[in-house]
Amino acid sequence: MATTHLTSAFPRAAAGWRRRLDRYFPQCAETQCQGRSKRLALPRWRNSGVYLHRNWYCSAQCLLPALEEAVLPLLPDPETPPTRRRRLPIGLLLLNRGVIHAQQLRAALVLQRERGEGRLGDWLRRLGAATEADITRALAIQWGCPVFPLERDQGYRQCVGLVPLNLSQTYGLLPVYHSRDRSLLYVAFRDGVDHALLYGIEQMLGCRTVACIVNESAFAAALADLESRTTPRETIFDSVRGSFEIAHAACGFTERLGAQALRLARLGRTLWIRFLCRSGPRDLLFHLPAS
Ligand SMILES: [Zn+2]
Repeated sequence: MATTHLTSAFPRAAAGWRRRLDRYFPQCAETQCQGRSKRLALPRWRNSGVYLHRNWYCSAQCLLPALEEAVLPLLPDPETPPTRRRRLPIGLLLLNRGVIHAQQLRAALVLQRERGEGRLGDWLRRLGAATEADITRALAIQWGCPVFPLERDQGYRQCVGLVPLNLSQTYGLLPVYHSRDRSLLYVAFRDGVDHALLYGIEQMLGCRTVACIVNESAFAAALADLESRTTPRETIFDSVRGSFEIAHAACGFTERLGAQALRLARLGRTLWIRFLCRSGPRDLLFHLPAS
């Protein structure tokens, strides 16, 4: 009764004490936890437990149901087809800007149709109708974002580890500049901007992103440079997995790595789980099947 009076009389002070108590002696967020009532039996100085979002779990066992719940909405819904925003075709854009002639555009379209492969920009380059710089500029106009000078700016080397290398290879994207206060990240795209990918990166890294376009050859050179300099720290699962199987695998990694916190995001058809460990972040990637 006395405590109720005190907390209602001094709500701010009570909230402060509650925050301090949670920080040093967190309570497991799993309602079925055996040790939930024994707050003092699970002190943080033992380095035990793991955070998922803002909740703390005393063990991988307690984490499992919450992780499965967090994974489920990130899995692709077979009923919902992927949406694509319509843009002015790159051929028309180059034609309107006077970079190519209608005859060259027709020839490139015929070649693309006959061979049944390749992007129109690649066929225009093979015909000598446009240069790589022409295509990059047109892509930037198409997506309404700047061209990043990747061929002479090696800022991408400072961004190593922000996004797993496998995601750069799979989706043609590369973090190229991280602001000093870490609140802004420039993400370069090779083939066009994907805002869903940017959103996933923002969710994972907790910063704003700015999209830009880079030359295809500069992108390939930067990626090869990173591949030769760094050892990938991601583990990749390619087989089909449901939410339970994914959560189960992630809990196993949580224990093995001694992770202190977990983050999740969906990038394209990949579920990305990041483990924040004392030795640095480690990543688990689940390439999900197309619906
Ligand atoms: Zn627990």
